Amino acid sequence: MTLKDKVALVTGGSRGIGRSVCVRLAGAGAFVFINYARNEEAARETLRLVGQAGGSGKIVRFDVADDRATAEAIAALIREKGRIDILVNNAGESRDGLLVRMKEQDWGRVLDTNLTGAFHCCRAAAYAMMKQRGGRIINVSSLVALSGNAGQANYSASKAGLIGLTKSLARELAPRAICVNAVAPGLIDTDMTSAMTEEQREKILEGIPLSRLGTPDDVAGVVLFLASDEAGYITGQVIGVNGGLYM
Ligand code: NAP
Repeated sequence: MTLKDKVALVTGGSRGIGRSVCVRLAGAGAFVFINYARNEEAARETLRLVGQAGGSGKIVRFDVADDRATAEAIAALIREKGRIDILVNNAGESRDGLLVRMKEQDWGRVLDTNLTGAFHCCRAAAYAMMKQRGGRIINVSSLVALSGNAGQANYSASKAGLIGLTKSLARELAPRAICVNAVAPGLIDTDMTSAMTEEQREKILEGIPLSRLGTPDDVAGVVLFLASDEAGYITGQVIGVNGGLYM
């Protein structure tokens, strides 16, 4: 799969799944803009790994929940490279809690980052892709968008919203040959899931037919495929990457 001469933006590229996606896209030849919100050191490490994979890229800081900052940053990178071919909406956060104790701000912040953030990025990138008559948008949703999860009402709602966004944009942008898909990872070993106790992990592992947690690279491989020419007839789909945990 080659992405030679393609320009990609990966939100939340500083760590976890986003970092692997940056490395895989860059390894296939894309120039990758590595977005992050706070952690510049981690973003620089992703850039180093991109270079190690023989690729090139640049780090770019903005908070996807901030409409103006996102629009300005994406307009600037489109000006710099003259195009944008691949947008991976991966930035995400969780603030778990049971419904009756969930604070308004924990509901709002998770929706703002995970769902509204993706909307901001899609809106900022779509016009250039429409003019180019081609592009790929890949939204990182979650298994819990489909299954639900106690204690994650805000997170699951945001990720389910991403699936609605994906399918609507797939229909809206198809006439310009822009494919929009989502991946729905199961339990992936990253900072986001590191707070789990050993006992919680063991319990979840019992329900995973492939008997292991996923790696960021398991997800990145699917994102790479969806970004490639090989996936040119796939749009509006949600691809589970979960070891069989949810079928
Ligand atoms: P992670 O290791 O916690 O990394 C989160 C990334 O998102 C970081 O790069 C972070 O940047 C960035 N980010 C957070 N808020 C942001 C904002 N407002 N603006 C820009 N960037 C922001 O998470 P992960 O596990 O790799 O998850 C990546 C995506 O996969 C998320 O959307 C998550 O919901 C989804 N997912 C994860 C799992 C899993 O089991 N891990 C399962 C299903 C879905 P900084 O480094 O600057 O903080």
